[in-house]
Amino acid sequence: MKRESLAKIHSLLLQWGKDNFRYYPWRETKDPYKILIAEILLHRTRADQVVPLYQKFTLRFPTIRAIVEADIDEIKELLASAGLFWRIDLIYRMAQDIESDFNGRIPEDKQDLLSLPGVGNYIASAIRCFAWNHPEILVDTNTVRITGRIFGTKVNDGSRRQKQFLLKMEELLDRENPADFNFALLDLGSKICLSREPLCEKCPISSFCKSAFQKKI
Ligand code: SF4
Repeated sequence: MKRESLAKIHSLLLQWGKDNFRYYPWRETKDPYKILIAEILLHRTRADQVVPLYQKFTLRFPTIRAIVEADIDEIKELLASAGLFWRIDLIYRMAQDIESDFNGRIPEDKQDLLSLPGVGNYIASAIRCFAWNHPEILVDTNTVRITGRIFGTKVNDGSRRQKQFLLKMEELLDRENPADFNFALLDLGSKICLSREPLCEKCPISSFCKSAFQKKI
């Protein structure tokens, strides 16, 4: 895509993202610890369900050290009510690793993040992007769908692992404003570029999208 088109997409998307920003408590912090906890809780769980849990959890355990020093039963009590059983052990083990290997601080390095239990590519990239504004692509169902539509590329289950497709996502990323860009892209996927019936007439970037207003996309 031409450089001018990309620049226009970035500015349109950033403005739209600002006007349509979905407020969640983990979006109002740059604290990598809080972003990490939010991302783990958000895995396969609705954001509105996560909000009260996240607030209770980060209030009771404001740091990695607080988790390490806590009784695991207390963590169980907090998370089990929401059915988040598998995350209890994970958070406990992860906190212990961060305490012992990184002196209680969330590492900024990608490989260090990926070495932690339960931290995959998406969570590592989200922490680096939202806490430190590193230019990271966030590869999930929504962002893959939007990218495929913008470039007019068919997507399937394997797209997120294909180098060519990931290069398209890298091309689309606003490297000057990665955090705001990614928030906007996630919000666009949730409000406008819907899976079944995208609302192209309301889309800020429809003039740059190869799939805009097509019946079958
Ligand atoms: S124009 Fe339509 S298909 Fe393209 S990104 Fe916007 S909502 Fe999605």
